[in-house]
Amino acid sequence: MKYVDYIIVGGGISGSVLSYTLMKYGASVHVFDQPNANKSSVVASGLWNPVVLKRMKKVWRADEMMETLQSVYPAMENWTQETFYEPLPIRRVFHNAGEQNQWTAHSDHPSFSPYLNERICDVPKHILADHGSGLMKQTGRVQVTAMLKAVRAKLEAEDCYTEGIFDWDVVASHGDGIQYGSLGAHAIISCEGAQSALCESKLEVSGFAPVKGEVITVKLEEDLGKECIHQGHFMIGNGRKEALVGATYAWEGFHEGPTLAKREELEAHVQKVWDGSFETVAHIAGIRPAVKDRKPLVGSHPHLKNVWIFNGMGSRAVLMTPFLAQNLAEHFMYGSPLLTECLPERMVK
Ligand SMILES: Cc1cc2nc3c(=O)[nH]c(=O)nc-3n(C[C@H](O)[C@H](O)[C@H](O)COP(=O)(O)OP(=O)(O)OC[C@H]3O[C@@H](n4cnc5c(N)ncnc54)[C@H](O)[C@@H]3O)c2cc1C
Repeated sequence: MKYVDYIIVGGGISGSVLSYTLMKYGASVHVFDQPNANKSSVVASGLWNPVVLKRMKKVWRADEMMETLQSVYPAMENWTQETFYEPLPIRRVFHNAGEQNQWTAHSDHPSFSPYLNERICDVPKHILADHGSGLMKQTGRVQVTAMLKAVRAKLEAEDCYTEGIFDWDVVASHGDGIQYGSLGAHAIISCEGAQSALCESKLEVSGFAPVKGEVITVKLEEDLGKECIHQGHFMIGNGRKEALVGATYAWEGFHEGPTLAKREELEAHVQKVWDGSFETVAHIAGIRPAVKDRKPLVGSHPHLKNVWIFNGMGSRAVLMTPFLAQNLAEHFMYGSPLLTECLPERMVK
């Protein structure tokens, strides 16, 4: 029988970042992942941004998350010998003078000045807007599919990855830990993402409020450059006359896939902000594993011994997972406290 410290169920952003982090802290892992159409990680645009631009509010624990992110993804690149971490400016285009004034006031504040450039700039050529724009600092993008592939290859090379469904019915207790077929482990960590959020996992986890999202890829007549333009929706130019446009939000139709209505919503956005012709060449949908109170679920399962949850990353998995994985790893290794706001038991009435 093979023994590992942790069995990780799910190889999306959560399972991949957590596997790397636990291994970095000296633990052994075995990952089970069933690639799945509902997986949100393959749809994710991969952006990280510590500020909610619509409300000009910082994300919960943004500074700590940013600090961890900036060391973890480059270290993961080093570990896998692949590249997927891309600092990328996010440009906020102002809709009116009020938004411009709000930006100027915030950029002068010590809490926001690390992330907002105080200078008001013109918008790029071909973007239609009358009130200028502000550039963010320290933002960027993880090429998620490349990262997942790189982590999987690394785990496979170390014989700690199995492609296939993890069957919760087969889990048995074994001494102080658990047994899964011929594999023994101290504990199992569920990183089942969208599947859990849609109640499609046999492991019951409370508190989800999933949100569907769609994005389109458009071919542009002129190049937008390599930046992310945020103007209600975002447009991420790849520097090759193509842009990713998204994302939409919906609280129903989880099993429908991409819809005509959302494609039209995104195309109407491009028509409004882009001075030139374009053609939609791709359209995809995914489910964000969001939680009712908008905080992730990280901690022990409320009812099951040796079962842990690492899920509920909503629309910010890229930003949140490095920090939360570190918190969980330090809890396992040194007994340091977990974040009470994220404990899964808060969702059990
Ligand atoms: C349109 C869209 C755009 C987005 N853009 C961004 C963005 O720019 N930045 C950002 O940070 N986030 C973004 N998100 C959110 C992000 O995609 C999610 O927060 C993130 O992907 C969640 O990752 P996860 O690993 O927790 O879950 P998932 O991606 O759902 O991965 C879970 C994995 O576990 C597997 N699995 C589940 N159960 C089992 C089982 N029993 N056995 C084996 N395998 C199992 C699944 O098949 C899947 O592979 C976006 C989401 C959408 C829909």
